[in-house]
Amino acid sequence: MRLNAWLQDHRRVKKSRDYNFAFINEAAKREIRRKILKAVAIPGYQVPFASPELPVARGWGTGGLQLTLSLIGPEDILKVIDQGCDGSVNAVNIKKFVGQVTGVSTTTDTRQATIIQTRHRIPEEAMTRDQILVLQVPFPEALRTVEPSEAETRRMHGEADYSQMWLYLYEDIVKYGEISIGARYPVTVNGRYIMDPSPIPRWDIPKLHLAETLFLFGAGREKRIYAIPPHTRVEPLEFEDEKFRVEDFPGQACQRCGSSATFLDEIIDEASGARTYLCSDTSHCDKILAQQEEKEVRSCK
Ligand SMILES: [Zn+2]
Repeated sequence: MRLNAWLQDHRRVKKSRDYNFAFINEAAKREIRRKILKAVAIPGYQVPFASPELPVARGWGTGGLQLTLSLIGPEDILKVIDQGCDGSVNAVNIKKFVGQVTGVSTTTDTRQATIIQTRHRIPEEAMTRDQILVLQVPFPEALRTVEPSEAETRRMHGEADYSQMWLYLYEDIVKYGEISIGARYPVTVNGRYIMDPSPIPRWDIPKLHLAETLFLFGAGREKRIYAIPPHTRVEPLEFEDEKFRVEDFPGQACQRCGSSATFLDEIIDEASGARTYLCSDTSHCDKILAQQEEKEVRSCK
């Protein structure tokens, strides 16, 4: 045998075994899956987990990434979005990494994906029972704004003692005339636990209620997993006479596709100070545009 041929073969075999499928070792993946099952069994309850190290800094989506890596199989199709955008640096890098360690195909089409990992948005298109939405969570504790002690928030959850949270909302209304919480709007899951839905806009909160899809929340730095199983009641905290409401964009529409029925990002031109609006969900915006172009082509024929 030639030495160089042997070395090349050896390197090739070693390279293909550089990582376990989906990077995390099987025992750690099994632990994460067990914790996911527990989270699904107790909707809205934060389940502690070991949160192994990943080659990504904590706070950059390690919680979501661990859920995705422990669930993904060779047949899955992955979509990753960050603030609604498929093309942001964070989303592209996470997608590249998962692609590299699993070989699964990736997509930007919400309908095609089987697993969608996201930060700060839920896709505009309705998701189905065959899909899983994995949310990256920076701060899993909804009660942290009113209580700094972890032991105390655990007790409050255990006893469903949420009076401080209601008091916080009441004071907010007294101060500002309405509830001023934008993202991370607290919700009650299945009539029991108050849950932080991660920093999604209020616009996305109604999509969690009685949905077809399984929502999984992973906080890597804080080592917590929680879930909203399909067909679960998810109710934003509100008073009978001070109702929860989503953001509105009066008289505004997306400058690209013209839609006024999606969540819009406000873009301010620094030089002129002019404000323009664009769909936050870029793949949905692309789809509407493509449909409009198709219509135009048909009407020309
Ligand atoms: Zn648009």
